[in-house]
Amino acid sequence: MSTIDNLPPLRDVIATHELAAKKSLGQNFLLDLNLTAKIARLAGDLSGADVLEIGPGPGGLTRGLLAEGARRVLAIEKDPRCMPALAEIADAYPGQLKTINGDALDVNPLEHLTAPIKIAANLPYNVGTELLVRWLTPPDWPPFWESLTLMFQREVAQRIVAEPGSKAYGRLALLAQWRTDPRIVLELPPEAFSPPPKVNSAVVHLTALSAPRFPADPGILNKVVAAAFNQRRKMLRSALKSVSPEIEDHLNAAGIKPTERAEQVGLEAFCALARSLETATP
Ligand code: SAM
Repeated sequence: MSTIDNLPPLRDVIATHELAAKKSLGQNFLLDLNLTAKIARLAGDLSGADVLEIGPGPGGLTRGLLAEGARRVLAIEKDPRCMPALAEIADAYPGQLKTINGDALDVNPLEHLTAPIKIAANLPYNVGTELLVRWLTPPDWPPFWESLTLMFQREVAQRIVAEPGSKAYGRLALLAQWRTDPRIVLELPPEAFSPPPKVNSAVVHLTALSAPRFPADPGILNKVVAAAFNQRRKMLRSALKSVSPEIEDHLNAAGIKPTERAEQVGLEAFCALARSLETATP
């Protein structure tokens, strides 16, 4: 029996269901249930909330979320081998865990969830970043979720919370900081996982703001930021030439020197630039 519930320890679950980790699915499992319960607590008060978990694997974080009082968990897992292990957790928490065997990039979770909704995941790097960008860029705000609690490579976590002037500062920082309050809440060494990955990891907690920090059209802001950081070493007047033929006027109107580079410009100024471009859009 484990420390947080009446289910077997994760090492036994993995052995019983023959869940040898697959590199192709980015499988680095957390086996310490005290640690997964701690990550679940970092997601905030779960009582009365539905939690969307992506990539539950053998269910370490799933069990943490349920033990910490989540009202219901919807877990989407690509690897069919994990489904019997997840079914055992569903039996131990009747009516509280629904699992879907599928690719999180293709499944619409909304039909299975009721607000308030929190998202928690320990995902492979590429899928995690793609989902994060999707969750941060809906046309309307606030989004369907209240908070995201996500494990990333430490380097990606640092990009999410980066400040202007730093090497890590870029599109991810601006997208995250425009509409959420992102914080690194836990750092984990490779040994926390089985098998251990090559890099350090970190959990980022992002709370959705009720409104974006500064007004801007999401489509225009996204386009400007993507173009600016695509050529981050160039001066903005040339990096953003493709965005508008009058880009120098718009940069000046936003209080940005046309000779500045993207990494020197803060969120407020990028939003001012998006607003100036919007007024010029026919
Ligand atoms: N949450 C578990 C834990 O913390 O031990 C497993 C974490 S492991 C890093 C990532 C999990 O995501 C694996 O179980 C993997 O099969 C699953 N996964 C990978 N790509 C996925 C996708 N596109 N959709 C859903 N699950 C995916």
